[in-house]
Amino acid sequence: MPYDKNNIFAKIIRGEIPCKKIFENDHVLSFHDINPQKKIHALVIPKGEYVDLDDFNKKASEKEIIELHKAISYVSSLLGVTNKGYRVLSNIGLDGGQEVPHLHFHIFAGEKMGKMVV
Ligand code: AMP
Repeated sequence: MPYDKNNIFAKIIRGEIPCKKIFENDHVLSFHDINPQKKIHALVIPKGEYVDLDDFNKKASEKEIIELHKAISYVSSLLGVTNKGYRVLSNIGLDGGQEVPHLHFHIFAGEKMGKMVV
């Protein structure tokens, strides 16, 4: 699937749509999910144009890949959930239930997660 420059996260990265920002650096942006599924629900996304994790791993630079992974742990520490634990999830494609076609990791926290897959 080609990257859609008008997807909602691309608009957030360009500053055309606001977000509740948690963290930002040259390669990564993190913000609170607009429709939280748990007490804490954050998103961590690369600033580069990648449809999903497969696209990212094929095309992104090593620096981008490292920065995105490090950001997940860093955002979790900013959220204060490192010790209690949390869940990280990325939906990929149709069967994965991906709605926004820009790679994102969900961070769920603040309560027990329950079953891994419902
Ligand atoms: P996914 O189903 O994995 O593609 O998840 C997309 C996520 O993006 C959902 O959890 C939505 O609630 C979230 N979302 C959609 N629009 C926004 C927005 N403007 N700001 C923050 N989160 C959003």
